[in-house]
Amino acid sequence: MSAVLECRDVRKEFRGNVVLRDLSLDVAEHEVVVLIGASGSGKSTLLRCVNLLETLDDGSIHLDGEHITDPKTNPDLVRRRIGMVFQSFNLFPHLSVLDNVTLAPIRVHGLSTAAAEARALELLERVGLADKAREFPDRLSGGQQQRVAIVRSLVNSPRLMLLDEVTSALDPELVGEVLSLVRDLKGDGMTMLIATHEMGFARQVADRICFLEQGAILEQGPPEQVLGDPQQPRTRQFLQRII
Ligand code: ADP
Ligand code: MG
Repeated sequence: MSAVLECRDVRKEFRGNVVLRDLSLDVAEHEVVVLIGASGSGKSTLLRCVNLLETLDDGSIHLDGEHITDPKTNPDLVRRRIGMVFQSFNLFPHLSVLDNVTLAPIRVHGLSTAAAEARALELLERVGLADKAREFPDRLSGGQQQRVAIVRSLVNSPRLMLLDEVTSALDPELVGEVLSLVRDLKGDGMTMLIATHEMGFARQVADRICFLEQGAILEQGPPEQVLGDPQQPRTRQFLQRII
């Protein structure tokens, strides 16, 4: 399997505070890698670096072999190939579900309205939300809004999905429908890099789990190994606290 994503010695500091410490990580095609670790360990910063929302202080990131952290790269062209979903769904409140999903394809990527709407409706259908296409976000539950946010990030058929704590803002009874959608994406072969606090979900969806500690990967491996038989004392401590 070829690597879709290659992070090499990635270093990120905020005013002298080293948040990513020469971190290297590959994600192969169709692979699902889950990042776990204490709050502040650098999970979100790593995802933001991959989506070029932060500039690196050192190291490099390649997407499909292309050096995307090269200063000459056009970030908009890179972000078209990456879908990112955040904890807060970030839907536009004044736009319908359909307009939320089609806004970028029409305005930014130059797709025709008809083509963008057809694609959006097909995706909404697949996640069981076609009947909500004309609703405004505030008429939807948090779980439905997050599924719309995921659909919005899928509309360009991304090569890589980045999911940052996508269930953290949801009431417990709504978490399942979002996790089930992510499991479906895995079933479709989507390559994903996911940060989560949901260890049950990590176990189900991850091909590999990376435990981050102070901006470095302290331990990684298949879920049954990292969650079931952690080798590092810090990983054990973290898992004891969280489970
Ligand atoms: P996690 O997602 O694992 O909780 P983050 O990547 O959000 O961790 O944060 C890692 C560290 O980087 C934290 O100490 C956080 O305060 C710091 N940090 C993140 N973003 C910024 C920023 N824009 N400015 C300054 N510090 C930041
Ligand atoms: Mg975070």
